[in-house]
Amino acid sequence: MTSKYPRRKFIRDVSASALAMGSISSFSSCGLSEHEKTQKMNEQKAKGKYGIALVGLGKYSEGQLAPALQETQQCYLAGIVTGTPSKADKWKSKYRIPQKNIYDYNTFDQIRDNDDIDIIYIVLPNSMHTEYVIRAARTGKHVICEKPMAVTVEDCDRMIEACKKAGVMLSVGYRLHFEPYNVEMMRIGKEKDFGDIKTLTADNGMAEVDGWRLDRELAGGGPLMDVGIYCVQGCRYTTGLEPIAVTAQESSKTDPEKFNSIEEGLTWQMEFPNGIKAACSTSYSKEMNLLRIDAAKGWAELSPAYEYTGIKGKTSQGDMKFPQVNQQARQMDDFALAIRQNRPTPVPGEMGRQDVKILRAIYEAMETGERVEIG
Ligand code: NAD
Repeated sequence: MTSKYPRRKFIRDVSASALAMGSISSFSSCGLSEHEKTQKMNEQKAKGKYGIALVGLGKYSEGQLAPALQETQQCYLAGIVTGTPSKADKWKSKYRIPQKNIYDYNTFDQIRDNDDIDIIYIVLPNSMHTEYVIRAARTGKHVICEKPMAVTVEDCDRMIEACKKAGVMLSVGYRLHFEPYNVEMMRIGKEKDFGDIKTLTADNGMAEVDGWRLDRELAGGGPLMDVGIYCVQGCRYTTGLEPIAVTAQESSKTDPEKFNSIEEGLTWQMEFPNGIKAACSTSYSKEMNLLRIDAAKGWAELSPAYEYTGIKGKTSQGDMKFPQVNQQARQMDDFALAIRQNRPTPVPGEMGRQDVKILRAIYEAMETGERVEIG
């Protein structure tokens, strides 16, 4: 059988990716004077790029977002917010950030007076997103918030309201909407390549976890909030539909002490319109990474589905062939373009709110043992 993924399409996507990856600049040198650093910033601004300030310099900011911001075409790393002076020093020289663009959690609100910064990106533990998105909105800057958007629907409402009131755009860090294999799943679902979808399977788990992720107060829950959310997202964007109801079962704990305030693992089922059913699972003690549809005339799956790199896909008609891209660079560039073009972001606060609503319904179903309808 001929592959559904001809070379022409691959080359076109590689070109698009190469464009997105564009001028990869090395920011490894340091030793610039404050004046020279400010000049560098001004050069980026003169090119019409938007300045982004990262709030919270943990693993995701350091390992993914800052490197991605060296590849972006529409935005650049303009500032940082951190409570740790040693991190400020390290980032300042590594990324040539002038001292005037470095803030801590007390001086955060002064970003309002800084013209270098157009977008504030909140990369803090989950339960802190609400306070910092609201404070970011009040500075008059546009906002990106990491997933999960917040730990309650009420908090999401307050965040959306604050951004509306301030007249700024709010986006959630859903990088997979800019990743070719996941975009292909969206297309397959929409164009019904394999007929009507009957069932979905979505699993996402990781075996190593520590720190605030184990603390319900900061995380809002366990692996469901952190990695299970990708399964909810995957099922939503592949079907283009919203779940009507959920059921859920907590897995038994292998380490009750470590997981004393959160679930260690969870399986859940989602009912979608047209009789479509999704079977999902998440875990903090098992590696899993799958998004699959079974449809009337075939199937498609990604495994791994949600990683930063190395995503693979196949269907009942052959392997998918797409380039590996820098998802975070594409995500941030698209947000900058959305601002410039005055168009909505494809991953707005409302999408983040809907996920949190579904996550809370899954927890309710887990705790009560009942089928919970999503109104
Ligand atoms: P991390 O623990 O590595 O970093 C958290 C940062 O917050 C640290 O710099 C820490 O100093 C700071 N912080 C401030 N106040 C804190 C407090 N009271 N307790 C703990 N830390 C505090 O976490 P991370 O992996 O970078 O995750 C940060 C956010 O990014 C989370 O919301 C997470 O869900 C999200 N994330 C998203 C992706 C993605 O692919 N989109 C990947 C990883 C993380």
